[in-house]
Amino acid sequence: MAIIVQKFGGTSVADSEKILSAAKKALATQKAGNQVVMVVSAMGKNTDMLVDLARQLNSRPPAREMDMLLSTGEQVSVALMAMAIHSLGGEAVSLTGAQIGIRTDSSHTRARIQSIPTDRMRQLLDEDKIVIAAGFQGIDENFNITTLGRGGSDLTAVALAAVLKAAACEIYTDVDGVYTTDPRLLSDARKVSQISYDEMLELASLGAGVLHSRSVEFAKRYNVPIHVRHSFSDSPGSLVVAESESPSQAVGGAAVTKNESLISIKDIPDQPGTSLTIFKNIADENITVDMIVQNVGLDGRANIAFTVLDDDLQVARDAVEKSLGELGCGRCEFRQDVSKVSVVGLGMAQQTGVADHMFRTLAAAGINIQMITTSEIKISVLVDRERAEEALKQVHQAFSLETAPDDIQTREIGSPAESDEGEVASDLAGMEGLRVDEVLLDESQGRITISQIPDRPGVAAHVFEKIASENIFVDMIVQSDSSEGQASLSFTVPRDQLESAFKVAQSLVTDMDGAEATYCSEVAKLSIAGIGMRSHTGVAIRSFQALSGSDINVEMVNTSEVRINLVIDGDRGAIGMDALTDAFSDVLSKKPSGRQSSPS
Ligand code: ADP
Ligand code: ASP
Ligand code: MG
Repeated sequence: MAIIVQKFGGTSVADSEKILSAAKKALATQKAGNQVVMVVSAMGKNTDMLVDLARQLNSRPPAREMDMLLSTGEQVSVALMAMAIHSLGGEAVSLTGAQIGIRTDSSHTRARIQSIPTDRMRQLLDEDKIVIAAGFQGIDENFNITTLGRGGSDLTAVALAAVLKAAACEIYTDVDGVYTTDPRLLSDARKVSQISYDEMLELASLGAGVLHSRSVEFAKRYNVPIHVRHSFSDSPGSLVVAESESPSQAVGGAAVTKNESLISIKDIPDQPGTSLTIFKNIADENITVDMIVQNVGLDGRANIAFTVLDDDLQVARDAVEKSLGELGCGRCEFRQDVSKVSVVGLGMAQQTGVADHMFRTLAAAGINIQMITTSEIKISVLVDRERAEEALKQVHQAFSLETAPDDIQTREIGSPAESDEGEVASDLAGMEGLRVDEVLLDESQGRITISQIPDRPGVAAHVFEKIASENIFVDMIVQSDSSEGQASLSFTVPRDQLESAFKVAQSLVTDMDGAEATYCSEVAKLSIAGIGMRSHTGVAIRSFQALSGSDINVEMVNTSEVRINLVIDGDRGAIGMDALTDAFSDVLSKKPSGRQSSPS
C-alpha cells in the first residue's frame, strides 16, 4: 500500500473549520487505498505569537527554552487534528517529534535532522491509523526538544516522506502551487506545473517562502517528489522534481529578499587569509552570508562586502568588529535600505545575454544596481529597498515569466521515490549532513576588471550589452558596492574571447571618467559542487582556509545553494584543487574528475 505524506501549513489549520477540512482530505486519501502520514504546523500565527511573548520577557531568550516554547504550537495542532479525524469516524494517533524519535543535533532553533526511526509510524499505519506528526521539531541525544528553523515543518514532511519511501509528499498551503514569483507581490506571476530541485532551492533561499530551502535540499538528496497544492482545493498544484518545466527557458523564476543588509569592510590587506579571518567569526555564529564580493584595490588594500538577512545584522556586525580587531586594521560600514532581486534558471548556463537583459531592464527603469553576483543558475542584484518590488516586476516582465513556455514537460507523480540513499536513510547519521559531490578546476577562462566605474543606473547594462553584441560568453560576474561613488566590475570570459572582451572594456572606459580596464589572461576557477553549500556556513570557511593554507589569494567568489566558485591566480589552479580536495575529503562523494577545458 502506498504511503502519502500530507503537510498542512499554519494558515491551513488556523481554525477548527480548517482543521476539519484538512482531516477530511487525509481521510479521503486513506479511503482511496493509501496509508496517510500528516505533518502539521502550529495554528495560524501561533509561532509568531510565542516568539513575541518570549521577547517581551527576554530580548535574547535562551535557545533551548525557545525550542521548548515553540514546539508547543505544533503539539496543539496535532492533538486537535487527531480529535477532528476521530470526530469524522476515522482513527488517528498524534505524535510529537520526540515520540517519533526524530533525532537532531543540538543547535537549538536551527537543528539539523540526523536520523528518523520508522517502526512506530509503520506499526500505526499497518493498524489503519492516520499518523499525525508534529512538524518542525525533534530531540537531541540528551532528549532536549529542538526545532528545525522557521518554516521547518516542510522539512519534517520531506524527511518523513524520504524515510517512509512515500509515493508522494504533498505540501498543502495557502497558494495553489509554486509561482514564477511570489503571487502576493505580483499578480502577473504564473503557476508553474513543474520546477527542478535546483531552481526551487535557489528560489527558496533567495526569498520564495513557499518551501523551506532545507526541505528542498533534502528532497533533492533523497529524490522525493514534492507536490505543492492548495489546502482548500483538489486541483493539481506544482511538482518539485529533478527536471525543470521547460528545457528551452533561460529563466524560470524570480525572487526578492527585501530584508537584506549590506556589510562592507574597507581597507583590509589584500593577502591570503583575510577573507578567512572575516568569515570565520561570522560562520561561528551560524549566519548565512550571500553576495560576497571581494574587490582588489590598487594599493595592496582590499574591500570585502556581503549581505546578510536584517535579523542577523547585529550579530554579524559584532563578528566583523571582532575580526577587524584581529586584523588590526580596516573599517566596517553597513546599510539596511537595500534588497536583493534575483532571477533563477537552469537554462541560463547555456545562453549568452541573460545578465545583460536583466541589467538593461533595470537601467531602463532608472533603477541603480548597487552590487551584482552571479552563479551558473542565478543572477542577484542589490537595489534600493524602495525600488525592489518594482525591480522584481520589471525583471519578471522582461523574461516573460507570466507566459507559459511552449515546451512544458510534466512528470507523472505517484511512483515511490527511487533512491539508494533512501534505502539506508532511516539508519544514517547526519541525514542533513553536508554532501560535496565534486571539486572542479576550470582553466579555460580569463578575467576582465573595470575599476572606478561610476555608481549610476545603466553602467553594467552598457558593459554587458556591448559584450553580448560581440557574442562573448560571460561566466562569473561580480560588481562591488560603491566606495566614494565608484564601484568595480569583474567578469570572466573564455580565454579565446578575452582579447575581444578587453577591447570592448577599453572602448567603454573612455566614456567613464577615471575608470580603468585591466585583464588577467590566466585565472583558474575552482568549484565545489554538492548539497547544502550555503546553508552549511562552514563550507566557504573550509575553502578559504584550504586556499590560504596553500598561500592562494581568492580574487572572486560566488556562492549558490549547490556550488561555490572561487577564482584564483591561473598558475595555482592544480595546487588549489588539491587543497580543496583534501579539505573536503571526509564528505567528498566523487574523486576529482580532473580539469575542465571549457566552461560548462
Ligand atoms: P505555510 O504556512 O503553508 O507553510 P507559507 O506562508 O510558509 O505557508 O508559504 C506560502 C506563501 O509563500 C504564499 O502565501 C506566498 O505568498 C509565498 N510565496 C513566496 N514566493 C512564492 C512562490 N514563488 N510561489 C508561491 N508562493 C510563494
Ligand atoms: N510553526 C513553525 C513556524 O511558523 C514551523 C512551520 O510552520 O513550518 O515557523
Ligand atoms: Mg511555510
